[in-house]
Amino acid sequence: MTETIPQARAAGDADLTEPGATSSGLLVLAPLRFEARAVRRGLREASSRVQRTGMGATKARKTARLLAGESKPDTFGPRIVMGTAAGLSDDLSPGDLIVGTEVSDGITTVLLPGADLLAAELRRTGLPARAGKIATVPKMIKSSERTRLADEGYLAADMESAMLLGEANGRPAAVIRAVSDAGFGPGMLRGGLAALRSLRAAAPLAERWAAACAERTVLLAGPRSFCAGVERAIEIVERALELRGAPVYVRKQIVHNTRVVSDLEQRGAVFVDELDEVPDGATVVFSAHGVSPAVRDAAADRGLSVIDATCPLVSKVHAEARRFAREGYTVALIGHAGHEEVEGTLGEAPDSTVLVQTVADVASLTPADPSKVAYLMQTTLAVDEAADVAGALRERFPQMRAPGSDDICYATTNRQAAVHAVAAEADLVLVAGSKNSSNSVRLVERSQRAGTPAYLIDGASDIELSWLSGVSVVGLTAGASAPPAVVSEIITALSGLGAVTVTERVTTTESVQFGLPREVRR
Ligand code: SF4
Repeated sequence: MTETIPQARAAGDADLTEPGATSSGLLVLAPLRFEARAVRRGLREASSRVQRTGMGATKARKTARLLAGESKPDTFGPRIVMGTAAGLSDDLSPGDLIVGTEVSDGITTVLLPGADLLAAELRRTGLPARAGKIATVPKMIKSSERTRLADEGYLAADMESAMLLGEANGRPAAVIRAVSDAGFGPGMLRGGLAALRSLRAAAPLAERWAAACAERTVLLAGPRSFCAGVERAIEIVERALELRGAPVYVRKQIVHNTRVVSDLEQRGAVFVDELDEVPDGATVVFSAHGVSPAVRDAAADRGLSVIDATCPLVSKVHAEARRFAREGYTVALIGHAGHEEVEGTLGEAPDSTVLVQTVADVASLTPADPSKVAYLMQTTLAVDEAADVAGALRERFPQMRAPGSDDICYATTNRQAAVHAVAAEADLVLVAGSKNSSNSVRLVERSQRAGTPAYLIDGASDIELSWLSGVSVVGLTAGASAPPAVVSEIITALSGLGAVTVTERVTTTESVQFGLPREVRR
């Protein structure tokens, strides 16, 4: 392996008494000489500096006072403590990296809200990293003390971090500790070497974290997050669990969001792909995306107790499909192949319905009677793209019938308008939502079409630090199936990279509510 010698290494340890110790780059605080050396070998940027702080509380406090400006103004930018630590959890191995969510010596607790971002970035490069609490202890600890700290939820113990960051004065700060041992014994030396290797490998990622640190404005799109159909579907499962007890089976994901699904799973919901996975006589909930009549019939044949969480706005499209088919129309269903909602709507009148995904598909339509064509839409399409397809259909079939009211639902339309508004002002747009969430993916596309880079993230740990470099305004929204808590989590994580000012851009307010099915009404 070739070793790149960083310029920081040639400069030696930063000395806060040197006039040259002024930089807006990363300042790494490493307690011991061999820790400082390992980190320095991994650094790449000329502006990065390593300050050896010395071991233990007294030296850490002295360094912290110097950094706070008691004897010399601290002009460094983001600050990160990097060193080795004792691992407190049985499943940790030497070389594992702990990124502190908080560091505490029992008196001072420093919260580090950007830890998840940094830990995820380390993992993406293949390093074994996790975020967790770090205890700062006054001396080497024995096994009884390790057990006590582990019981309190600490993942690692060091002897300096809480003091070193106690006077960070609001600047971005982080801690990366590499586990050197999980107890005293002959493996300590080997563990120490593994820890130093991990520290060196983590050093460029610390620089990437520093490059992402900045004060930012977060522009919140309004409306965002849960729509009335999703709230109703989740409440149906919650109430079914309450009234009938676990397990309650749910065919397909109740809504397309991993957080929602795993939360309900923990409470006793069992998600299945098909009805044959549901035991006889059990309760099964149909998801918000709806089902075809064939699925309803199969459930009835099996004697399953069905609770239908299909969004009323999806049911409206199903009713339109049945009506047009009954009246002898060929129904052009504008939507995405394979989406559960589309499969359910196609199943209402399979012989009369044709899926149309793009403008190009329109040319290949061969309706039995070109004067009797109608169109419908999936509820979560991009408003502008769907309009293009509908326009092409109308051009080819001028007498084409339209649905009685828009099929693309109010929530989809409103969230797209809102994200468009923030994308116009933002350097970057983050959309909270899962990959299989159609309406969330459309929000990303809408931002990208407005010329603003946009990413879909399930949570804060999906944010790649490189996205944030040079970004001062972040647009933030959430798809209709993404919980509001994820938005708060993302803002908190961004605040770990520098002060965040949150401003909301509300393009419209929503007051839609849907009633619950009788099976779960109290
Ligand atoms: S996105 Fe629209 S159609 Fe889908 S559940 Fe929400 S309100 Fe209903």
